[in-house]
Amino acid sequence: LAEPFQKAKPVVEKIKAHGYNVYFVGGCVRDFLLHRPIGDIDIATSAKPIELQNLFSSVIPVGIEHGTVIIRHQNESYEVTTFRVDGTYTDQRHPDDVTYVDSIDKDLERRDFTINALAMDLKGNIIDLFAGRSDLDNHVIRTVGNGEERFREDPLRIIRALRFSSQLGFTIHPDTIEHIRKVRHEMKGLAVERITREFTKLFAGDYVQHGLTYVNDLEIYKYLPVFEQHHSLIYRIPKNIKPLPFFHEVLVLFHFLDRTIPLLTWVKAWKCSNKQKNAAMNLTKQLEELQANDLTPWLVYQLPRALYNSFIRLTNCLYSKKNITMEQLLQIEQTLPITSRSDIKLSGQDIIDLFPAFKQGPWIQQLLNKLERKVVAGQLPNDYYKLKEWIKWNPPAIN
Ligand code: ATP
Ligand code: MG
Repeated sequence: LAEPFQKAKPVVEKIKAHGYNVYFVGGCVRDFLLHRPIGDIDIATSAKPIELQNLFSSVIPVGIEHGTVIIRHQNESYEVTTFRVDGTYTDQRHPDDVTYVDSIDKDLERRDFTINALAMDLKGNIIDLFAGRSDLDNHVIRTVGNGEERFREDPLRIIRALRFSSQLGFTIHPDTIEHIRKVRHEMKGLAVERITREFTKLFAGDYVQHGLTYVNDLEIYKYLPVFEQHHSLIYRIPKNIKPLPFFHEVLVLFHFLDRTIPLLTWVKAWKCSNKQKNAAMNLTKQLEELQANDLTPWLVYQLPRALYNSFIRLTNCLYSKKNITMEQLLQIEQTLPITSRSDIKLSGQDIIDLFPAFKQGPWIQQLLNKLERKVVAGQLPNDYYKLKEWIKWNPPAIN
């Protein structure tokens, strides 16, 4: 067994020792068979949530009403879901009711795609009821059962099909494509948060161009926030786009497709967090600075280190001719005379003291802004006396 499975083994063994059926299931089995890095380990079992709570000391009831708990073991989290079949999906978000079942067979049947409906026991035996392994070998995404019904049950699966094609480079089976075409209009009712979660993974996928081709060809953009009102935007996404691992980068890309649509419109429509909004705003500002003045010390000074990689990816995507590198950014960073406003050798109080007759007001901040820009640009030395002298010769205009 591969390392992540080894680590989860004690959890699985304990469940098994108490007489329950238990398997590794879903993405981890798929990625293991594909020799891809294994993400989260998901476990499926005949044990009910209450029974798991009795067995383990650290159980978090994350989705207990759907039969899912998280078991903490040696600093890892394992999502453990009781074998179940789903009821109808009237809210297109969660099934209305779940029914627990004893065998894994029915549980695998409710899963979206054949490549995600594989289970593996502790000995490494694979349970493959829907020819998922052959679809893995042939790089095919195909629904478990009738696609039309499965997409109707939960239209998010349509987007999931595209995001797996983007992550794995797989082709969607022609029948499944046909079923997507039939059901796609039902994506209208989907919760935005669910769409955003899948699109975050789609844009981060190694084969993002492949995934976006499906978004185009299957006209999925007609059901996406903002794009639904502006269909043609989708064609402006650069054809040579590379993976964007963070959604704040995607927000910037979206905004640059048409600058008359404010960044905030995208942030709200795709229900992004404040953190994503702030990162996207900063990146937008620096990309505009790059466009106006090239790669200046001021730009690097304003850009937090944590956003360097995002900035580089976005410049490659939006201004491929500029070809900004990490070395360039780090080299400019090294030559910066200050790293933040507080490093300026003259304070707000010093400025007030220089002009005792002036009433305090926004002019103090404005003057500090000016000093900051000049110091960063190397036009003024960061020296108390030199700065003071400069202000004396360039007094603020107060009316
Ligand atoms: P990743 O590695 O990106 O997490 P994953 O396959 O684990 O991929 P998840 O979204 O974490 O994907 O879902 C875990 C598993 O649950 C899937 O492999 C699939 O079997 C099942 N699943 C998830 N969402 C759905 C859905 N909407 N409909 C049916 N089955 C689903
Ligand atoms: Mg997962």
